[in-house]
Amino acid sequence: MQHQPGPMVAQAAVCAPPDVAHPIGAGPLAWYDQIRALLIQNGLPPEPAMYDVLWRYVRDDDPELSLAIDKAIAGAGLTLGTVLGLRETLLGQMSEAQVNQLIAEAHGQAQALTKRIESGQTDLADYGRAIAVGGERLAGPMDPAALAGLLEQLSAATSTVQAANGRLLEELEHAAAESLALADRLIQAERAAVTDALTGVLNRRGLMAAVETAQTEADASGKPLALTVVDIDHFKQFNDRFGHAMGDDVLRFVAHHLDEMLEKDGGCVGGLGGEEFVGVMPGTTVQAAAGRIDRIRADLAGRVLRSAVDGSSMGRISFSAGVAEHRAGQGADQLIQRADGALYTAKRLGRDRVVPDRG
Ligand code: GH3
Ligand code: MG
Ligand code: MG
Repeated sequence: MQHQPGPMVAQAAVCAPPDVAHPIGAGPLAWYDQIRALLIQNGLPPEPAMYDVLWRYVRDDDPELSLAIDKAIAGAGLTLGTVLGLRETLLGQMSEAQVNQLIAEAHGQAQALTKRIESGQTDLADYGRAIAVGGERLAGPMDPAALAGLLEQLSAATSTVQAANGRLLEELEHAAAESLALADRLIQAERAAVTDALTGVLNRRGLMAAVETAQTEADASGKPLALTVVDIDHFKQFNDRFGHAMGDDVLRFVAHHLDEMLEKDGGCVGGLGGEEFVGVMPGTTVQAAAGRIDRIRADLAGRVLRSAVDGSSMGRISFSAGVAEHRAGQGADQLIQRADGALYTAKRLGRDRVVPDRG
């Protein structure tokens, strides 16, 4: 997006890395040099997961990720654990080891269950044999003492199989609970993979998938589809004045508010990182979408924000937005780009307004 700054500390850290022999220009080789310098400076292993995260960082693909890495570098340092943690929480990617562990757990559970069922079957087979033998003996003549002995044996066999079945039942219940917990963790991991950690709306990955799905549905139904890119005005000033934590609260508030508004009509909201959000509005033309987003804008701009801590006023905030309508044959990137172009115009015209794409 045009309005994103580069990662601040990254630039400082990589402008003159001591171990890079040639000057850094632009492009993939320069990014590679920056990644290499970051790996060396932070003592990180040159593994694919590190490249994956640092590649996005040096390209500033994801402002939230850049911000988190800048913070780590400025603070306690960029450690292996930090990078892997960011990869999981921000990029929603579990490491291979984590996925393997979940699979191993599921496999272990299935094996233990099979074993228990097999041993339960052995108990039942023993019981079946005891009854068959008893039945054969009952067919012949028996004195009362022998009959009493046989009944005692059958009763003992029944108690054994009852106890075994009781244990099996308990273990099956336990296994079922464990399977549910495991499924829950997998669902959470799946959800985390498409959720923005700060605001709880869709992250870039989830958003791109949602836009693509909406485009496919619009193509199939012939109904319109609008998309808006929303960017908070002068947000840097807000952060500077009220602090980053308060800024984060505002981001959460705006993201939820937009999501709530668009969800009513089957839409959704995703974060592109930072203070920029994308709204997907199925069944809506560009004009109708611009009208709706403008009402949300006016409503937000008309409110005085108050600190949840002490109720003090933080003034008003506004946003600018660009809106574009899907055209058959165009991909998600193109649609977002057109809405982003309109957003750029909105900023240029003075902010606090919604501009429809006229291209
Ligand atoms: P404009 O009206 O042109 O959009 O001005 P702006 O200050 O909003 O835009 P700019 O792109 O210059 O700065 C965006 C700011 O957003 C920079 C950064 O302080 C803030 N920001 C980005 N991500 C986060 C975040 O996750 N939390 C907080 N609190 N601030 C963020
Ligand atoms: Mg911005
Ligand atoms: Mg902004």
